[in-house]
Amino acid sequence: MTNWTPKAADGRRDSPLETPIQYLKGVGPKRAFYLNRLGVETVRDLMFLVPRRYLDRTRLYEIKEVRPGDDVSIWGKVIATGLVPTRNRGELVSLRVQDQSSTVEAVWFHRPDLKYKFKAGQEIILSGQVSAYRGVRLVNPQFQLIDPEDEFRFTGAVIPVYPLTEGLGLWEIRNCVRTALDKYLQALPETLSPDLLSKFGYPGIRATVAALHSPATVEAGLDARRRLAFEEFFYFELVMALRKLHGTHLKKGASLVENGSLAGKFLSQLSFKYTAAQERVMQEIKRDMALETCMNRLLQGDVGSGKTVLAIHAMLIAVENGFQAAMMAPTEILAEQHHRVWAQCLADIGVECALLTGSVKAKPKRAIMEATASGTYNIVFGTHALIEGDVKFARLGLVVVDEQHRFGVMQRAALLNKGINPDFLVMTATPIPRTITLTLYGDLDVSVLNEKPPGRQRIQTYLRTDNKRPAIYDFLKQKIGEGQQVFVVCPLIDESEKLDIAAATKTFEEMRQVFPGITVGLLHGRLKNDERIRVMEEFRAGRIGILVSTTVIEVGVDIPNATVMVIEHPERFGLAQLHQLRGRVGRGADVSYCILIMPFIHAPEIVERLRFFEQTDDGFALAEKDLEIRGPGEVLGTRQHGLPDLKIADLQEDRELLFKARDEAFDTIRADPTLARPGNRVVRATLEKRYGGREDLLRVG
Ligand code: ADP
Ligand code: MG
Repeated sequence: MTNWTPKAADGRRDSPLETPIQYLKGVGPKRAFYLNRLGVETVRDLMFLVPRRYLDRTRLYEIKEVRPGDDVSIWGKVIATGLVPTRNRGELVSLRVQDQSSTVEAVWFHRPDLKYKFKAGQEIILSGQVSAYRGVRLVNPQFQLIDPEDEFRFTGAVIPVYPLTEGLGLWEIRNCVRTALDKYLQALPETLSPDLLSKFGYPGIRATVAALHSPATVEAGLDARRRLAFEEFFYFELVMALRKLHGTHLKKGASLVENGSLAGKFLSQLSFKYTAAQERVMQEIKRDMALETCMNRLLQGDVGSGKTVLAIHAMLIAVENGFQAAMMAPTEILAEQHHRVWAQCLADIGVECALLTGSVKAKPKRAIMEATASGTYNIVFGTHALIEGDVKFARLGLVVVDEQHRFGVMQRAALLNKGINPDFLVMTATPIPRTITLTLYGDLDVSVLNEKPPGRQRIQTYLRTDNKRPAIYDFLKQKIGEGQQVFVVCPLIDESEKLDIAAATKTFEEMRQVFPGITVGLLHGRLKNDERIRVMEEFRAGRIGILVSTTVIEVGVDIPNATVMVIEHPERFGLAQLHQLRGRVGRGADVSYCILIMPFIHAPEIVERLRFFEQTDDGFALAEKDLEIRGPGEVLGTRQHGLPDLKIADLQEDRELLFKARDEAFDTIRADPTLARPGNRVVRATLEKRYGGREDLLRVG
């Protein structure tokens, strides 16, 4: 997976800023070891170590002034420490702190790490909310122990609080930062052009870094951080802008224009008309394909919004023009489904299709590959096996990638390396918040299908606790009695496929006992391929009433007769993921249901999140909520999501800066595509420093 970490290398190897942190005066190997844990390897890293927050000494309260509800900082001496057992077998760490005016109690719940942290006589700063409990006390306050030897403790009104790591006190970090600034601040080269600085009223880099570590006010410190966050986004988006520019300027050499010979026939075969959104998106796709440069487009649309049919349409345009098209799905189940659904109706209009996945046996595979290489097949469905290894196409004009993040750019690189340069359409049903789209897919054009085909019913969603199972089971019996089918999905457990399968197997056994007259099927990732296909076939044919499954059915599976989706342990899924699962039902004419069965004991925030899901039908709203609650990595459901490793900026909190930085970056590249103008000298130099050695990022379309 691409590693987006900006490279620290300064270009000039001998830059003093690249001095390993160990050699900074006063650091040495032991402190360097701990600083490394904070990601600080060099003097430069230390200078850009962003305080987590600032303590404002002008806001220091005397203890006697403290009132319940206030948000305060106090500075005092520890006079007593204690440990109190709590009801749920935990321990509560408590302190009594005194200043010249009075004393106050501070307590921490669930912090065994603080057990031996405090001693009477220590000086400490506490910040947090004051609660009323036997007088007043501070609950789970943030704290800062103060080194009585520290020579800086009485200077400056604002104290930066750095991320802490075991073995290193705040005041040690502060002292190291000071040494670094004293010696190296003047060596910091400017990172934004004069135009940008004046446009946004930002101070130069040296003033910014100085303010970051010793701001005159808390706001000045936060401003400094914001400037650095802007800069981080700006250079990331600059790469996106360059890549997009270069990508769309790659010539594919042919303009693919719809002439109606196939696409027209295909459309007249469909039993429906495009929605207005489908029309609009198809126009966008056609416009791109007609250009001699490459299409590089992301199609976003909620589950069931009708993306696939547009993809087939686009592929037929390629075929009409004498090219081949390929459609890649992330799983074999999906690739098989696409092939099964479309091959016949494509054959009816004279288009030859094939299916190529990793599990096609060697002999037929060779035949398929030969026919693909000779151009006999017009359209090939498959998994990523399609474009890897030794598969060759006679004339590949369009690649459609279905339902997978980040498939796009990497696979495109693989194709480019083979000297093929087709149009490229990435489809995703996971609604992605705009902040993520801009970073993850910042180099693609985006089309959004924001309308569902008419007549779709809202899926009735119910959040239930475990103790309601008997009623739920009765309901399932009734629905199956009416000839409908049920999915039961079990979650991933701690990312361990084994446990995951064990849980699904257990549920499967349970269902068999509860529903003796009904055929129950089991589907998971470890099943042999033939077995998996067999189970899917049985389910599709209606011979299985209840299909118990792990999340392998998450994407794309289309079985109109399945109308009930039961999700076990919904609290273990993200909202976007739940939405995907829910989208597996409601594909036919009957009313469909999604039933979430959560454990009886649960945290209120979990219930709140799941209630939101119960009441919300809009995938984008769910994705935004997910991002807010769980952060971007979780939203995408994988660690290898390809998001940039941001050191300073935060995708959610700094989203406005991201939008601003993106506009600025794209304007910059539009006006000066190679950053050759003297005014952009600083930008160019900084970009090279940050992404030096990663020119592939700049080159890949
Ligand atoms: P997606 O891939 O976006 O989840 P699909 O392309 O699988 O959605 O479409 C879901 C179902 O809706 C398919 O059965 C498809 O044939 C049907 N469909 C697509 N577009 C329309 C439309 N405009 N009107 C009615 N049905 C449609
Ligand atoms: Mg689909």
